[in-house]
Amino acid sequence: MRFAHIYVEERAFGYPLTEKILSKIPDAHVIKIKHYKDVFDRKRQDAPLQKDHQALIIAVRDGSRIFKGAPVCQSFGNKSFYYASSMMNCPFDCEYCYLKGMYPSSNMVVFVNLEDYRNDVEEKLKEGPMYVCASYDTDLLAMNSLTGHADFWKDMALTYDNLLVELRTKAAVLVTGNIPNVIYAFTVSPSEVVESLERNTAPVSARINAAAKAIEAGAKVRLCFDPIIKIPDWEKAYKDLIDECAASIDLGRLTDVSVGTFRISSDYLNRMRKAYPDSKTAWYPYVIKDGVAQYEPDTDKAMQEFVCGLLEKHIGREKIFTWN
Ligand code: SF4
Repeated sequence: MRFAHIYVEERAFGYPLTEKILSKIPDAHVIKIKHYKDVFDRKRQDAPLQKDHQALIIAVRDGSRIFKGAPVCQSFGNKSFYYASSMMNCPFDCEYCYLKGMYPSSNMVVFVNLEDYRNDVEEKLKEGPMYVCASYDTDLLAMNSLTGHADFWKDMALTYDNLLVELRTKAAVLVTGNIPNVIYAFTVSPSEVVESLERNTAPVSARINAAAKAIEAGAKVRLCFDPIIKIPDWEKAYKDLIDECAASIDLGRLTDVSVGTFRISSDYLNRMRKAYPDSKTAWYPYVIKDGVAQYEPDTDKAMQEFVCGLLEKHIGREKIFTWN
């Protein structure tokens, strides 16, 4: 792995996962710290610059670890919808990523007290079945060879029948088998978007092939056309994308599909604009509705309807979920 500097909380040294991670990056310079926030929350950080020299922070997460899903996120019809934050920030660098407005730093934080997450989930499961998006504030599958966090969530799904786990990714990961209550969610975008806005992610053709192989392996697969980005000639770009997906994947075998136009909390957008003054995505003149920045209502509706219309030729409408 490419981390040259690893900050480790004093108390994190006692955890086997810390040793495991450190042993995989033997050349990194290890710096002992008191608390991850001393590094991660520092004022006046240059987040764009950090993205090119990302440091890793190994820490123990206190307080809340599992959160109620936000209204801008999709629940896919699940009543009890949560997301878990066992890592913060991502190895990829999407220009539109809401994490740019959410965190003051681009460094990555990996929490090693996974047993506490297990206990949190166990507690909540007492109230009934739960749907957990485990890979929202990061890409757990892309980082799994270093952190094992995706394996942890798979193991959780194997242990608890009433826990449904979504692992979302922009990597072309090899899925070898089916765990009935794990959904592998591959986000796909037109190659124009991948090349210009999704730095370091896998090419879209590789993600589509990975999704096709996962279906063949019997896994539950979700395709996410989310966020849809208003690029020039977006109709053609998204039609080509769906044609490419349909050529490799029997879309009728997907568990479901998510469709959503770009949207971001207006607070995050303001912070993103400050940190990235040259970002066209950040500076688009969005409409703010209920604290959420989004495309003009007519455009937003037209984009979602267009993509849904194309998908409906391949997959039942009941399997297509939109965010509004
Ligand atoms: S893959 Fe997802 S979490 Fe990672 S940078 Fe891109 S949008 Fe953000």
